[in-house]
Amino acid sequence: MRNPMFVFDERTADLVLGYCRERLALDPVPLDFGGYARPLHALLEGLITPQGNDPARVLGLFRDHLATAVISADSPRSLSFIPAAPTKASLLFDMVVSSSSMHATSWLEAAGAVAAENQVLGVLAGLAGLPEGAGGCFVSGGSAANLSALMVGRDTAALRGHGTERPKFACTDEAHSSVAKALKVLGVEPFVVRAVDHRLTAGALEAALGSDQPGAADVVGVVATAGTTNAGLIDDLGGVGSLARERGLWFHVDAAYGGGALFAPSVRMLFEGIELADSLVIDPHKWLFAPFDCAALLYRQPALAKAVHTQDAAYLDVIHEAMPGVQSEAGTQGPTQDAPWNPTDYAFHLTRRARGLPLWFSLAVHGTDAYRDAVETVLENAREAAALISTTPYLELVRPPTLSIVLFRRNGWSRADYEAWSAELLADQVAFVTPTVWEGETAARIALLHPDTTAGIVREIVDTMA
Ligand SMILES: *Cc1c(COP(=O)(O)O)cnc(C)c1O
Repeated sequence: MRNPMFVFDERTADLVLGYCRERLALDPVPLDFGGYARPLHALLEGLITPQGNDPARVLGLFRDHLATAVISADSPRSLSFIPAAPTKASLLFDMVVSSSSMHATSWLEAAGAVAAENQVLGVLAGLAGLPEGAGGCFVSGGSAANLSALMVGRDTAALRGHGTERPKFACTDEAHSSVAKALKVLGVEPFVVRAVDHRLTAGALEAALGSDQPGAADVVGVVATAGTTNAGLIDDLGGVGSLARERGLWFHVDAAYGGGALFAPSVRMLFEGIELADSLVIDPHKWLFAPFDCAALLYRQPALAKAVHTQDAAYLDVIHEAMPGVQSEAGTQGPTQDAPWNPTDYAFHLTRRARGLPLWFSLAVHGTDAYRDAVETVLENAREAAALISTTPYLELVRPPTLSIVLFRRNGWSRADYEAWSAELLADQVAFVTPTVWEGETAARIALLHPDTTAGIVREIVDTMA
């Protein structure tokens, strides 16, 4: 007898697909709540047994008790950290990727999936102005992308002969926490450059490199941020990139959050210099309306990444060898050339899900104009929110938003006031907004990402602070 786990079952399919259909049709998506450990553990207690359960019971438990204990990142009222706003098309296609067990590790195994992913990477490289031949792969998130890229930066310096015993990457303390973590993993120290009004500038970098700050001679690369997570600020990419080029330093640009705004003509000039990047990270699961988990990692010269990341194992040799019909001119580079492209060669991973395909499907269906319009709508909503805040007497706008993150303060409030207010907003399902710290003081922070986060929602939030 066949093992029933591998036999298609109409009833379970109807149950699960029915749930998916309901969830996808929610409009608007409810915010929902967090949860306490004890009741959740009590609920799950004894569920996994030798005999199993009726799928309707398990799904019901998920629907009624677990799903509601997850704050919906895709609700237009979800404004903490960096929320999500996946398109319906991308969510639907994510189900296709899952239903097809579609992996995309090597060209040998997954040519069709890799070709489509590379088409999207090509669009992003084009938006950034990277040269022909740029390429890379999709990884799980900005953190994995930063680690993979900085590893290439570190090792390329050594391969080029400007290695040092203690390589360092220059950055400011406004760089994302995942950069510090990546450097720690890599055994590389940060060379911290003083930020000028929270931004890395060429002047500050040049001064630090020429100073007697310990480690200046060991700097092999620079990390710039295009859209800081706390405030949405963009470093002086042009100046820093040019200086990095002049000094032979690896230029890494972390645009995990901000990169989506490359689609928006109204702010595109703020990204000038991004085209100088040796490596670039953009998270489509943030501002490119893709489902979790999806980060684009691009290299100016993918061959450098390949030299660092290709995994050697006897059983993997076949994916690196020429295959009939897939390999042509030796030495061609770039994902659109007539040569096999192994995503596994461009990050520290091996097996990987074809996580670029939901974005590919949505972009192909809707077209790039729809993405431009969605990003511009979010930017406009952020400007409106800032205008509303700055004309509200009991509020103070910390600074006009550069992208779509708005920082503001309530006159006279302490940290405890912000925390109590934040908890109440969630309890009342008005919004998920958590406080942050700006220049040593607590501030409210809203990160807009969903085109449906309108001024009306922001007004509701503002009214609760009166
Ligand atoms: C979110 C973010 C990261 C980390 O990305 P994950 O996808 O959460 O791993 C890195 N850098 C910046 C600037 C970010 O906003």
